[in-house]
Amino acid sequence: MDQPNQHFVVDTHPGIVPAEQRTALLANPGFGKVFTDHMAIVRYSQDRGWHDARITARAPIPLDPASAVLHYAQEIFEGLKAYRAEDGGAVLFRPGENASRFRLSAERMAMPAVPEEMFVEACRLVTTTDRAWIPDSPDGSLYLRPFMFANEVFLGVKPSSEYLFLVIASPVGAYFKGGASAVSIWVSDEYVRAAPGGTGAAKYGGNYAASLKAQAEATENGCDQVVFLDAVERRWIDELGGMNVFFVFEDGSLLTPPLGGSILPGITRDSLITLARDAGRTVREEPYAIDQWAADAASGRLREAFACGTAAVITPIGTVKRRDGAFKIADGEAGPVATSLRQQLVDIQRAKAPDPHGWVQRLF
Ligand SMILES: *Cc1c(COP(=O)(O)O)cnc(C)c1O
Repeated sequence: MDQPNQHFVVDTHPGIVPAEQRTALLANPGFGKVFTDHMAIVRYSQDRGWHDARITARAPIPLDPASAVLHYAQEIFEGLKAYRAEDGGAVLFRPGENASRFRLSAERMAMPAVPEEMFVEACRLVTTTDRAWIPDSPDGSLYLRPFMFANEVFLGVKPSSEYLFLVIASPVGAYFKGGASAVSIWVSDEYVRAAPGGTGAAKYGGNYAASLKAQAEATENGCDQVVFLDAVERRWIDELGGMNVFFVFEDGSLLTPPLGGSILPGITRDSLITLARDAGRTVREEPYAIDQWAADAASGRLREAFACGTAAVITPIGTVKRRDGAFKIADGEAGPVATSLRQQLVDIQRAKAPDPHGWVQRLF
């Protein structure tokens, strides 16, 4: 059945995954392994602009071997979640922020802007079409992955003249096994993630490709995640491979590294700054040096450290390791500020708590 829906044609394919099998998949979805029945797809060409927007059965995309993305990596993405509300409805959390960040990422990578309205509409339609896939569990959600890539068939180096924009959806459980328990962090002395003037502030696939070697080194050293230092002085904390970072001090204040080009402007980061300030806490956006981190952890001035992002919300940092030693944050467990901020944010995201900033968008 084709029904025009603002910009999108919706071609639903009922019953691709039988209900019984879907229920079994939803029981323990993990992260990013299970996908829903449909996807949004929109084409762009220089001549026609964005066109042929549809919601259709999720399926492989034919790619010519000379498609630009396969050679020069023009690809950006987003990540946001739809949550099941207590009344059985569903909400999106700050989708307009993802839409505007996607526009900025596109600009940095010389890609065309996806109109913010079209971005949000694609997310809404995929979620409502595949509403049966939104988990009911307290930790579960439907992770939406909007992305865009260059698919002009041409080996010349230039911005592509053709692109595809897609949204796929994946029901997920807790990102880390063990939920909100503390992780260990490896300080990457050798590799950097992003440099001033580079692509660190864009949600660009290549940033992740560049982080994998450092992440592998973290794993070899028995750590869960890697934290990157700035590229110039190799001294200031930037962020993790895919999460921003916060520090909590003995006076109850928070500090997070400032946005300045090499850090991804996280929506979770922004939301936590707002919630902490609402609660009367001081939040400083200032550089923080790795040696200061070690000294403050040793003196007890630093009480907590945590990473944050859409996938895992807040992940406490328990231990920090580098080539010349390791240190613990407090007792190495989740601290009270991280725990309470996490709960506050999760309650707003799941439409369980008042939403004074209008962050939650109702889908149905
Ligand atoms: C997506 C991302 C984050 C977190 O951003 P959120 O909007 O909070 O999900 C942090 N760092 C990097 C490198 C990212 O790609």
